Amino acid sequence: MSVQIYTPEAFHRQAHDALGNPQIRRNFRKAMDGLMSKRRDVFSDWDLEALRELGANIRLRALAKLPDLLERLEANCQANGIQVHWAENGDEACRIIRELCEARAARAVIKGKSMVSEEMHLNQHLEAAGIEALESDLGEYLVQLNEQTPSHIIMPAIHLNTDEISEILHDKTGTERTRDVDYMTAAARAQLRERFMAADVGISGVNFAVAETGTLCLVENEGNGRMTTTVPPVHIAVTGIEKVVEHLRDVPPLYALLTRSATGQHVTTYFNMISSPRKPGEHDGPEEVHLVLVDNGRSNIYQDNELLDTLRCIRCGACMNHCPVYTRVGGHTYGTTYPGPIGKILMPHMLGLEATKDLPTASSLCGACGEVCPVKIPIPDLLVRLRREAVGEGRGNVPGAGVKRSRKELLAWKGWQWLATHPTVWRGSTMVAGKLRGLTPTKLGPWTEYRTAPKPAKASLHALVKAHQHKDGEGRS
Ligand code: SF4
Repeated sequence: MSVQIYTPEAFHRQAHDALGNPQIRRNFRKAMDGLMSKRRDVFSDWDLEALRELGANIRLRALAKLPDLLERLEANCQANGIQVHWAENGDEACRIIRELCEARAARAVIKGKSMVSEEMHLNQHLEAAGIEALESDLGEYLVQLNEQTPSHIIMPAIHLNTDEISEILHDKTGTERTRDVDYMTAAARAQLRERFMAADVGISGVNFAVAETGTLCLVENEGNGRMTTTVPPVHIAVTGIEKVVEHLRDVPPLYALLTRSATGQHVTTYFNMISSPRKPGEHDGPEEVHLVLVDNGRSNIYQDNELLDTLRCIRCGACMNHCPVYTRVGGHTYGTTYPGPIGKILMPHMLGLEATKDLPTASSLCGACGEVCPVKIPIPDLLVRLRREAVGEGRGNVPGAGVKRSRKELLAWKGWQWLATHPTVWRGSTMVAGKLRGLTPTKLGPWTEYRTAPKPAKASLHALVKAHQHKDGEGRS
């Protein structure tokens, strides 16, 4: 599978291509419309605002105590027999997981869905070490077969329609070409089942890590998460350090918000709570459980009292489903692990603003993402903050401040500022501009590709008001 690398040029080209691809637009439109209406319907019997407020407060409390909660999580996991590992970045996390696999002479790994493992390109790292990593979430399995990356954080294969899926399964696994969804699902299930049984190690993500009990919670619909965490002799859970919550009682409200916001479900088919490896006398479960806690830029952001809000995210994907940009261009256009609104505020922390300078500007700032976010992350405000940082001075927490600063633009604004603060010169220039309006160019670069170039007015507002007052005065006399 190829690793997607974001570059501003590729982002522009891919956005252009996606907008001209009616199939992609149809696939996303249909899928996103369905998700939006399901979310609307499932929240109709709840006091949504009260639940969002509760969810936001739980996440804020956890973040306020993050260092302490992480220590409690580590102590309680260890007391339960779960071995805890800390990774400063993605490379270190990959190394830790590879070494854990090598210690068991593992050659086959089965994976449950984990966006953190995508973030650190774990599959490619394991492949390079001769360890085969197979995705077991159906969507992830399909994109892996198709040598792609996920296009949505919850529904990785949402960009594919039934015919495309049938073609992929036929080409890569020899199933019949069909539009029968049950047949395709059963075929994939049969193939995956054999691989679960043969896997040496299972790797999963974590939705919530409970500090007070040392419990890892995993939300899923297909049962592949449960198989991944119970069938192989070793289970490795990998997650970002921000996923910790303080109490077990914090989980139900977050779970209610997550499932409703993500897929419009009251509950998911499976909810797993992993608290230890197999105990003496138990018949199933792994012999070893490991938890790898990944930082990868998160503690940098933790020091910034605005961008810190990004760490509240529970990865529901609702901001993407409601984003007018994401729904038109799809997830692959971004070329980043996290696409859509959350990606535009997460990726600059991870890759720096130099590498992601156009992401925060790829937004209409309509505010839909902030309105639907179940934990009330002020995404539009954070986008504006990153835009400002991209053209100005930063606070040192996001590398690459000022990367979008253009000398021409700066000079133009400085000239404007000088004019606007010198009334006599301003009046003279607007008068001259009004007289020469016929000479105004109609093309002003890419900006006028889809817009009409503005022309100075014949007379300024001041002049019009003055003339009006003069007329009124004459009328009264
Ligand atoms: S930012 Fe909010 S809406 Fe978007 S994925 Fe995270 S929790 Fe969900």
